Amino acid sequence: MIDPIEAIKEKMIMVCKILQKQRVIDGYGHVTARLADGRILSTPHMPPGKVAVRDLIIIDGQGNKLEGAGEPNGETSMHTSIYKARPDVQSILHYHADELIAVAASGQGIKVLSNAGVHFYRGTPIYDSPLLIRNHQLGDKVAATLGDRSAVLLRGHGGTVVAKNLDQLVRRGLDLVRSAKLQIMASALGSLKTHSDEECEQMIKGHEGGDAQRRFLDYYISEVVD
Ligand SMILES: [Zn+2]
Repeated sequence: MIDPIEAIKEKMIMVCKILQKQRVIDGYGHVTARLADGRILSTPHMPPGKVAVRDLIIIDGQGNKLEGAGEPNGETSMHTSIYKARPDVQSILHYHADELIAVAASGQGIKVLSNAGVHFYRGTPIYDSPLLIRNHQLGDKVAATLGDRSAVLLRGHGGTVVAKNLDQLVRRGLDLVRSAKLQIMASALGSLKTHSDEECEQMIKGHEGGDAQRRFLDYYISEVVD
């Protein structure tokens, strides 16, 4: 049987490769996952798309490194603060995609104008500072801005997505950037017609069917596996 921590490490590397291939991460950004024992698996201080299993580190709830050769990311506090505030969150992606920065600069969150945006229908609040999240106080502020939502935008900086597992994280991570891109495209055409809450809730139920999620993930996995 595969060791569960090894399995989640392998999955995290796959998630990073997918995000890199789809160009939503670059030299920066980070992915973490809460382990069953409460410790946190994290990409180290290096471009996440270039990370191998041997590079991954394990940190405690305060961000101190427990295992691994690499160093924690400078914005580790954002992750630890969110895990502390949100027992339901098991994985987090933080990234700096251009589309997220553009939408955050408009002062509006993500508007649900496509089915890719339905995960975000309860709002994507904007953390109103471009400064990096380098200590627990700032981490706690981001966590408070996120509240019980699926994602928070950081003005002039990027965005942070939370999920119940790494499969859901990759979907939400890609769909948030796609939603921002569509919003930018559609805004140029005039006023936007958006989904109702009820339409979003129905679509989310459909996403939760095993098949729909599997097909989404298998496509992106096939793009990074020979
Ligand atoms: Zn950042």
